[in-house]
Amino acid sequence: MEQLVYLDHAATTPVSSSVLAAMQPFFCDCYGNPSSIYEFSMKSKKALTAARETIASALGCEPSEIYFTSGGSESDNWALRGIAEEMGKKGRHIITTKIEHHAVLNTCKWLEKNGFRVTYVGVDENGIIKMEELRRAVTPDTILISVMAANNEIGTLQPIREIGLFAKQKGIYFHTDAVQAFGHIPIKVNEANVDLLSASAHKFNGPKGVGFLYVRQGVPLPSMIYGGGQERGRRAGTENIPGIVGMGEACREAMAQMKNRAERERYLRDYFIYTVLRNIPYTRVNGSRKQRLPNNVNFSFQFVEGESLLIMLDMQGICASSGSACTAGSMEPSHVLMALGLPEEVVHGSIRFTLGAETTKEEIDFTIKKTKEAVAKLREMSPFF
Ligand SMILES: *Cc1c(COP(=O)(O)O)cnc(C)c1O
Repeated sequence: MEQLVYLDHAATTPVSSSVLAAMQPFFCDCYGNPSSIYEFSMKSKKALTAARETIASALGCEPSEIYFTSGGSESDNWALRGIAEEMGKKGRHIITTKIEHHAVLNTCKWLEKNGFRVTYVGVDENGIIKMEELRRAVTPDTILISVMAANNEIGTLQPIREIGLFAKQKGIYFHTDAVQAFGHIPIKVNEANVDLLSASAHKFNGPKGVGFLYVRQGVPLPSMIYGGGQERGRRAGTENIPGIVGMGEACREAMAQMKNRAERERYLRDYFIYTVLRNIPYTRVNGSRKQRLPNNVNFSFQFVEGESLLIMLDMQGICASSGSACTAGSMEPSHVLMALGLPEEVVHGSIRFTLGAETTKEEIDFTIKKTKEAVAKLREMSPFF
């Protein structure tokens, strides 16, 4: 393969050179266990504290409210299962949306099997939560509302400030999966009245297998992993120091560059969308054009199989993602795109491109050209076109 055009940053991102450099000393030189008392382990302990402070300052919270985890999935599981366990005596109803990541949806399914009731609130045709439906779903039994800050497939930004305020007024805990949002758009937990927030380092140029859960002071979240007293007794296990240090540096870099980077990505995103809509007929953009992550582009090409298009783009070195997932040999249409009310055949022709800091206009132009060719070829073969 001659060149690689990586347009799948919602799946994962490269580790930046400054993140790698920050992590390097913590493998072979400063490898001390932060729980040890000798001087040698102090460097690990200090690095852990520094990373916690960096992340807390990005969210506008206290360092003691940050708990390091193995990533977004663990943070989501912990928030939902923890609140369910603790609050199960008070109530057994949880509200979420139809378009959450599977880390939330499959945890909700497990909770449903274990005596909880879950309401999955719908979204409008732009992929924004129906606030009226959310308000109506609340019962005296409701203990938790979990709504993602930004969607991983269509990039829509949910009104988390409005939801946070509503949850607070009702005395219900509010969790947000901010894995796609953190490091990309500003989020302050106090402004948004968020009680619990999940994030993952590898979605903002940090390493894989590390993330955090923000837990507001006073929220009664029990431990899910028993063992030693790490993370103030709430999450056992020797800390992933290189990973946490990398996440801290990725956070620092993301905050410093956020404004410029988002501006650049927005420009490329809108150029991409505009040019494709002008040049490829029978195409639609999925998700709100306004309330949208700076780096997300999601198209449906009618009369085209998303998977076939992906394979043709892959042959050109272009990495993207489709709106369908192959499960056990059958094509499972994206639950997010189905929730928009799109017909199944349109969902099957969907493809997501997510841009990153290193994406260039030349790469976008190349991708547009190759997409146009591939779509034309696939439509030629389609009996429906
Ligand atoms: C990637 C992602 C997750 C899972 O994070 P991991 O760190 O890969 O476990 C959860 N939620 C959203 C919205 C994501 O995009």
